[in-house]
Amino acid sequence: MSEESYSQEKLQFNDLTKAESYVINNKGTESPFVGKLTNFKGKGTYVCKKCGAALYYSSDKFESDCGWPSFDNEIKGAVIRIPDPDGMRTEIECANCGAHLGHVFTGEHLTAKDVRHCVNSISLEFVPAQLEAGRYGTAIFAGGCFWGVDYFMKKAPGVISVTSGYTGGTVKNPTYQEVCTGNTGHSEAVKIVYDPQKTTYDKLLKLFLEIHDPTQVGGQGPDIGDQYRSEIFYMNEDQKMIAENDLNILRSKGFKIATKVTKASEFYPAETYHQDYYFKNGKTPYCHIFTKRF
Ligand SMILES: [Zn+2]
Repeated sequence: MSEESYSQEKLQFNDLTKAESYVINNKGTESPFVGKLTNFKGKGTYVCKKCGAALYYSSDKFESDCGWPSFDNEIKGAVIRIPDPDGMRTEIECANCGAHLGHVFTGEHLTAKDVRHCVNSISLEFVPAQLEAGRYGTAIFAGGCFWGVDYFMKKAPGVISVTSGYTGGTVKNPTYQEVCTGNTGHSEAVKIVYDPQKTTYDKLLKLFLEIHDPTQVGGQGPDIGDQYRSEIFYMNEDQKMIAENDLNILRSKGFKIATKVTKASEFYPAETYHQDYYFKNGKTPYCHIFTKRF
């Protein structure tokens, strides 16, 4: 993969039919009671039809008799809420790609959580639980401002979703303001969900080590502070081995590595306005560039 393909590659989305595009891209609404997932009861995960990001678990689906699939909870950080211009309703979109999902309602008292995500069946794809085990891999990296890491990781082939957040510290449910003080122990990090059939942990890790400077101590680029440190949070022993191996390759090339390798702990998704920052704002990173190191 050349530098150029990372800087110019467009996000890869699934091809949509005309009917799918009408709902997903043009915020249309499918007719009630016709969607094939409306009364579907399989066990598994509902993912975005456009980008494949996991949105809802079947355990949160309930029968509302409204004619569309209904959920009273979303996968944390997977769905964003946007007030409709009419001020009456709240639209829900896939946090990863902006696909229109439907609307979210409260105050109906249909379930204990008193929330109803009313989702167009056509915006969803169902992944059965038996296919899910081992279907996705997860990686967590910290390398300076998470907007920049998010930007490059989203463009990497095989990446399903990237969530900006905080991890590695001691404060529960930290806010951006708290993390910015540098006193929470948390770093600005990204959680990447990827398809192991299309990419590998090793490929993503090497990319991570080439889009930030793994030799900088106590910050990244102009961002100085413990929250901007370089760190790999491994999920299992395999990832730890790969991380140490890749860092040793760089050490053998003369790089004085500052990157820490740490067992992953709880990851707290950042506030919605931090997600997809560069894509939403049409900007490019100021502190992350691709530099070939492997
Ligand atoms: Zn999506």
